[in-house]
This record gives sequence, C-alpha cells and structure tokens, in this order.
Amino acid sequence: MSDDWDIRTKLVHEGSRRSQYGEVSEAIFLTQGFVYPTAESAEARFEALGEDEFIYARYGNPTVRMFEDRMAAILGYEDAFGCASGMAAVNGALMALSKAGDRVVASRALFGSCLYVLENVLGRFGVEIVLVDGTDNAAWEAAITPETTLVFLESISNPTLEVIDLKHVCDLAHANGALVLVDDAMATPIFSYSKACGADLVIVSTTKHVDGQGRCLGGMIVGSRELIRGPIETYLKHTGGAMSPFHAWVQLKALETMDLRVRAQADGALAVAQALEGHPKVSRVSYPMLQSHPQHAVAMRQGESGGTVVAFEIAGGKEACFRFLNALKVFTISNNFADAKSIVTHPATTTHQRLPQDQKDILGISGGLVRLSVGLESQKDLIADLKAALELA
Ligand SMILES: *Cc1c(COP(=O)(O)O)cnc(C)c1O
Repeated sequence: MSDDWDIRTKLVHEGSRRSQYGEVSEAIFLTQGFVYPTAESAEARFEALGEDEFIYARYGNPTVRMFEDRMAAILGYEDAFGCASGMAAVNGALMALSKAGDRVVASRALFGSCLYVLENVLGRFGVEIVLVDGTDNAAWEAAITPETTLVFLESISNPTLEVIDLKHVCDLAHANGALVLVDDAMATPIFSYSKACGADLVIVSTTKHVDGQGRCLGGMIVGSRELIRGPIETYLKHTGGAMSPFHAWVQLKALETMDLRVRAQADGALAVAQALEGHPKVSRVSYPMLQSHPQHAVAMRQGESGGTVVAFEIAGGKEACFRFLNALKVFTISNNFADAKSIVTHPATTTHQRLPQDQKDILGISGGLVRLSVGLESQKDLIADLKAALELA
C-alpha cells in the first residue's frame, strides 16, 4: 500500500489482507472467535495482540479490519474503528472521550439522534452541553472556552445543508485544548475536507454513501492511532458497539465503486439544484455549490462538491409538499439518503417530526421543506419527474 496512491486506487486495494488461499476478492470472515495453536499462544495473544492477530469479534475481525484500514486511508488518518451503525460510532466516540464536568460545544443543526446522545445521555452524566449556531463564527468564539473538552458538529447539516467554517472551528478548539469530532455523513467520504481542516476524529455513517445501495447499517470512527486504539477501542470493545463482519464485507466491497457513484450523484445533485432554482413553485433552494447559498464562499473554499443532497422549499407548505411527494414517479418516499435510488423526504413530518416547533423554526425545517437525495438515475429523468410533480403541488 502506498501513501502516494490516488483515492481511486486506495478505494480498490488499501487494507486488503489475503488468506492462505490467495483469493482475489476480499474474504468475509464470519466468525466471532479465533483458535490458538497452543495454550501458550493464547496467553501471549491476550497479553498483546500482534499485527493480524484477533481474539474476539467484539474486539476486531479480519474483514472489519480491512474495512477500517481502507476507510482510514481514504480519509487521510492513521486508524479507524468499525461500529454497528453511524449512531454506535457517534455514541461510542462521545462516551469514550467524556466524563462528568466536561464541556462539549456543538452546532445546533444536528441529526436528532446525535442531539439525543449529547443532551439526554451525556447531559444525564453531568457533561455540560452548549449548542451554537454553527454558521456563526462569533458564536463558536464565545462558546469555545479553555474548559471545553470536545467540539462536535456536522460539517454540512441535515436537512438544511448549513455549512460550517471548519478550519476556523478546529483552530479555535485546538487553541483551547479541545478535540474536534466531525460527523461527515452529508459531506461524503469522497469530498470530506475534515483532515485538511484539522479535525481530530471523523465519524462516518457508512450506511449512507459507503454502502450506497441502502443495504446495511454501519459506522466508522476515524482518527489518530493514539485515539482509536486508545480510548475509542477500549470503550467500544467492552460495550459492544462492534461492526458485524458481514456488514463490513458488504461495505468494504462497496468502497471499490464509491468514487464513481458519489461523483455521479453529486453531479446529479448540482443539476437538480440548478433546475429547481427559480422555478415558480419553489421559494428557496439550498445546495452549497449554488451562489445563493448563505455559506457559498466557505463551501467553495473547503470542498470540491456540495454532496448528494439538495433541500428546497415549496411555496404552499405541507399540503403542497404532500401533493408533490405523492406525484413523484422516479423519486421514492423514504428517509435514508445517499442510496443509488433517488429519495424524497419531508423532514418536518418524518425525520424531524418530534423536534419542537420553535427548534424547527430556528433550523428552517418548515412545512414546505423537501429533502432530495439524488441517486444514480439519469439526470434528465430525475429533473422531468420533479418538474411534473411540481405542476401538481
Ligand atoms: C444517518 C446519520 C447518522 C446515523 O447513522 P446510522 O448509520 O443511521 O446510525 C448520524 N449522523 C448523520 C448526520 C446522519 O445523517
């Protein structure tokens, strides 16, 4: 494996481990345990694990390890730990690194389950949680104090696609001795700029772009060897958030095509955003690569793409939205994103249904807001589908 390899080469080869059979395609080791040739070798392995040595799948597994090594390489970090889901990864990282009395500063535009872990789990154990408007640099400056231990944010928020000035936040956090954890679900592993901006840990819900075909849950915590094989692995191996070898294998093989898929989907998202902007039934389109996006300049400086999700508002609120959703023929109504199948979501009544109205208002999750996840279908068919359904909205 070579550090000089381009991402496309790493996605196909990095971290591969071959068994004595010399298989071409990465093997799936669907085993929870491992045998030892002698009692002495078992004792030695429990004392210290060598490279390519495993003792129990909750601690590590060869298929999961291939996936971890490949994910770490493509995101530019030393190591990674595979988890049962994106939320197992978020919860694992936050719990592993927090104790009573700590101060965690986070952007308020968070995925609902992440907000739950912060406020209802960490908060219950005496961790102070401070939420800020992630797009406001002055708010971060006021909130990140020397008492701050962790900073947590979504680089591009779900569902309204707010973009955070990540380098600014990382510099502030590091000047105050805090670690930065970035949830990179929306930015995608292909276009992630977390390493370039200085994030300490990246959390990826591999359920999204890595799988890309809506099959398996998975999550990955990526960072320095010291953090991953230190507090992160220690917490996760004892608390059971490990990834299934079968899911690791499905998603490891999916990495081979991820660059092709994500680039095609991101191209489609930009085309869809451009087609919707200015449409008489649409009051607002949110996509970071559009000049009208409030953080367009920051987004262009940080990233090569705005990702595969587009948010927009239909004039006419919930009723008009529902007519629009029900009229779509190519887009399917669901709540995942990053699938090869294009998906439409009405956040206010599904993914964000339980959010109090004042929070919805602050985050811009109105009755008219629609989230589109652009898949791999033809751009022509997708845009025609949207335009036809908008006629009926
Ligand atoms: C989907 C998602 C998660 C959770 O991932 P799962 O794999 O569904 O557990 C966390 N954060 C963000 C931003 C997400 O979109």
